[in-house]
Amino acid sequence: MSYKKFTIKKLMPFLIILSGILATVFYYESKIYFVKLEYISNPVHISIYKNKKWVGSSFKKTGITGTKTCRIRTKADSWTQLSIKNHGLILAIGESEFIIYPRKIKFIYVKKGNVVFLKNRKDLNRNAGLIQLVPFTFSVYANKKKVNQGKTIIFKVKPSKKIKKISGYFSYHRLMFVKDRTGDAYSSIQGMDVWEKKGKKLLAVKCYDENGNWMTRAYRIDLKRKRYSKRRRPPLYRWIAGKNKTKKRRRIIKKRRRRYSRSYRKWLSKWERKKRRIFSKNRPKKERKMLQKIYKKITLKRYWYRGFITPVKKYQRITSKFGIVRYLTYGGGTPHRGIDYGAKKNTPVRAAESGIVVFSGYTYVRGNLVIIDHGHGVYSSYFHLNELWIKKGSWVRRGQYIAAMGSTGLSTGPHLHFEVRAGNICVDPSEWLDRPVFINERWYKIVNL
Ligand SMILES: [Zn+2]
Repeated sequence: MSYKKFTIKKLMPFLIILSGILATVFYYESKIYFVKLEYISNPVHISIYKNKKWVGSSFKKTGITGTKTCRIRTKADSWTQLSIKNHGLILAIGESEFIIYPRKIKFIYVKKGNVVFLKNRKDLNRNAGLIQLVPFTFSVYANKKKVNQGKTIIFKVKPSKKIKKISGYFSYHRLMFVKDRTGDAYSSIQGMDVWEKKGKKLLAVKCYDENGNWMTRAYRIDLKRKRYSKRRRPPLYRWIAGKNKTKKRRRIIKKRRRRYSRSYRKWLSKWERKKRRIFSKNRPKKERKMLQKIYKKITLKRYWYRGFITPVKKYQRITSKFGIVRYLTYGGGTPHRGIDYGAKKNTPVRAAESGIVVFSGYTYVRGNLVIIDHGHGVYSSYFHLNELWIKKGSWVRRGQYIAAMGSTGLSTGPHLHFEVRAGNICVDPSEWLDRPVFINERWYKIVNL
């Protein structure tokens, strides 16, 4: 008698039971309906139940997702839409009350009011008269399905009829919508910061029509992590200049210092003196405050109809890429939110695209600085310049020479720091330089769950 035969024979009933359990679990789970409240013209009252027990209730403005039982009450003059994954939509018009049981086959129980369940086109046609009561709808599109840290995303909203006002949020960014040239769609450009937390971010769009009816739609879009470079350790010269020297550090410095040449040590102390001057009197903070006033403004026009060009025609090399964590400033390392082009002093710098010069002058950290407003919330900035050839308020063409490269401000050598901002967030300029942003976009309709 073999040992193997015996075990299989003995285990057989258990295996059958286990597979039975698994099959029922899978069957049960496949019957779960994910409910997503898409838009509401007035806040609805939602009570959520779990195992027939009341869990909570709230007035929702954006959306709910889940598998719990909910009782939904809508007010008069309201339009509510719930989408159920792979099953269709529930549309509630006017004052109504209904309960959704996501774990049951018959998952909707209407208590009162006009509630329509739309499974397919046939249902849509059958209820066409009722659906016409809904004042308007809109769809939201984006140029990418998910967005990476440090990259730009563009949203497009297409309403079914003329609307009066449109607003929205993506993550914590307030979206500014600009009417398209055709006039039937609205778009918004938003950058994602390098250090913005990854995860599913809420996108909420709200539209008003002329009669004051409003609709909100909520979606979730994935913000993916993007690794630009490995975090570098602070350079030794930061230890030399640092105030809180430990015994161990002091020993290392003493050892290494002998290796440094006299001219390098001289340069180092000069650089530290320069840095101390820049960082004194709360200068960086004041400067940031002043610049934020400029970057916050959004021009409701787009000045570019081609792509962005490299701001330096002939550069030696890119000395620092976008996203690299560096230790130039005091305190912790910060990611580099632009591209550095290294070239000889006084190399001409050109405008990446057409726009209006909104700043041209001296700042402590950024040195001689030029900021160009390209409209639609997009700005390009040029740091550390030696000479400025244009004035504030002047119009510049794409490729027009605007300044000479230098090493003013917090800079160790002649280079141009080129920055692109979208929705007041610094984004990777390489994405803008590679292709004509906005002109040949592929649009994806955003559908949730
Ligand atoms: Zn830089």
